[in-house]
Amino acid sequence: MRRPPRANSLRDAWAGDLRGEDEGRTVRVAGWVHRRRDHGGLIFIDVRDRSGILQLVVHPETAGGAFAAAERLRSEHVVSATGQVVRREEGNVNPNLPTGEIELSVTGLDVLAGSETPPFPIDEEAPVDEVLRLRYRWLDLRRQGMRDAMILRHRVVQTMRTVLDERDFLELETPILTRSTPEGARDFLVPSRLQPGSWYALPQSPQLFKQLFMMGGLERYYQIARCFRDEDQRADRQLEFTQLDLEMAFVEEDDVMALMEAVMSAVFEAGGFPVPAPPWPRLSYDEAMLRFGSDRPDTRFGLEIRDLSDVLRGSEFRVFENVLADGGVVRGLNAGAREMSRSELDGLNEVVRRHGGTAVAWAVVEDGGGWRSPIAKFFSAEQVAAATGALQARSGDLLLLVADAPRIAAEALGGLRLELARRFGLVDEGRHDALWMVDFPMFEPTEEGWGAVHHPFTAPRGDFSDPGAMRSRGYDLVVDGWEIGGGSIRINTPEVQEQVFKVLGMSEDEAQRRFGFLLDALRYGAPPHGGIAMGLDRVVALLAGRDSIRDVIAYPKTASGADPLTGAPAPVDDRQLRELGIRLLVEHG
Ligand code: ASP
Repeated sequence: MRRPPRANSLRDAWAGDLRGEDEGRTVRVAGWVHRRRDHGGLIFIDVRDRSGILQLVVHPETAGGAFAAAERLRSEHVVSATGQVVRREEGNVNPNLPTGEIELSVTGLDVLAGSETPPFPIDEEAPVDEVLRLRYRWLDLRRQGMRDAMILRHRVVQTMRTVLDERDFLELETPILTRSTPEGARDFLVPSRLQPGSWYALPQSPQLFKQLFMMGGLERYYQIARCFRDEDQRADRQLEFTQLDLEMAFVEEDDVMALMEAVMSAVFEAGGFPVPAPPWPRLSYDEAMLRFGSDRPDTRFGLEIRDLSDVLRGSEFRVFENVLADGGVVRGLNAGAREMSRSELDGLNEVVRRHGGTAVAWAVVEDGGGWRSPIAKFFSAEQVAAATGALQARSGDLLLLVADAPRIAAEALGGLRLELARRFGLVDEGRHDALWMVDFPMFEPTEEGWGAVHHPFTAPRGDFSDPGAMRSRGYDLVVDGWEIGGGSIRINTPEVQEQVFKVLGMSEDEAQRRFGFLLDALRYGAPPHGGIAMGLDRVVALLAGRDSIRDVIAYPKTASGADPLTGAPAPVDDRQLRELGIRLLVEHG
């Protein structure tokens, strides 16, 4: 329970913290009119402050002038009320309200501010159009769902701070006006007035500054850091978002992972989110792609994928044979005994197409072990038996097969797994899984050559003569199929850093121009170091059971990057542009 507020002329108690044992006390509370009800001469007012709701009862005989004032109150007026805490009559006790045993018998009432009729009700959680909620965010924040989310967010951050403080981390800040750091997204740029034509970039993360802290001997750093990435707004991303960012010197992977397990299990406990106790399982990238078709696998249900290339090779089915001849694979999963109509099965092709594939083949295992399937006729009885066995299928089970390039087949089946889990409710209510993803590839092929899978400061494993085979010393934390954080052990010598830049197609000149300060720092005794960053918004959304991170960010932007509250982004005066040496190529509508 909270400490009572300092008594002043407005209040001396939190409304939501009064209980049966306060009976007889004279207190003063302040808050918003949540609801008002007139009951044959008596007026009941639910007053709401951040702590909760307290019922005021205003009697015409005992309340004096307060009664007339109470009659005029409307929703969201701001009041301060004095009175005596009394027990409610037997029939009026409200077991759903922490203050439900008592009420305040009002003797004085001050109206501190009026309110226009709100554009949506504050006293219920019914769905409201999101743009309207954002436009009137201060009203939305008064609603219980948002208030609970903000309080949870605070609790999560405080828990992180406590655990890290106990482990000797320093909370330090890094600049917002900086130079671009490559985390794979577009930068937000800020024009310099003092050096016209030059630009700052907003940090995509504090990555290089935190590494420099390690080279600066500070050894253990963390920050609740704002990151800015000018990405096309895919579902549930924000242009600015918050990370728990940290870095440690003289560490290996296990040190960072164990530290993070301590931080996050404390966070999960504080949020009442039951995750099995650490250490959490580790899954290599290759294994996760093979078994779950995803680098952030949801392991809360089965439907694991199996490679069937070997058992189905050499059939009469030209489609599969052509894929296999091109270096592709045939993989499948056992969906279990599912009732799906022909058109529902056809509908699954959509899921496969979303992942770049063409189609999914299906088969239902019959009593004798054969397949009922449009493609059954192409396979020998041995092949059917072997594939059925590999998928551990029984009579009545539905099998789904995809033949494609390995990555596409994996992701398509991964998508089908998730779709089936959603459709058939395969995830047990209340089950949560945390796991580490490790052994990622260091580089991935891009149109222009190689790209870094994590970021180019991640320490590699393997031989630079074969970049495609190199692995990184990176790790991601995945919970319930969400990637909630990621990090790595970093490069700590200029030689390795230069080689990585070279694989990424950066000339020495360019590397020097963009990252000269890092290369310099690496020449002056850089300790082995590593770290991680957790997506705070996603963590809070997960704990709060919300689908959208916008529901746990106080002032988020819409999917198109707009802020309906302030109207940002917005044009600026010509004078401001002139000062910055900027001329627009676009006209404002
Ligand atoms: N800076 C990285 C990111 O934002 C995290 C890390 O490597 O620590 O994804």
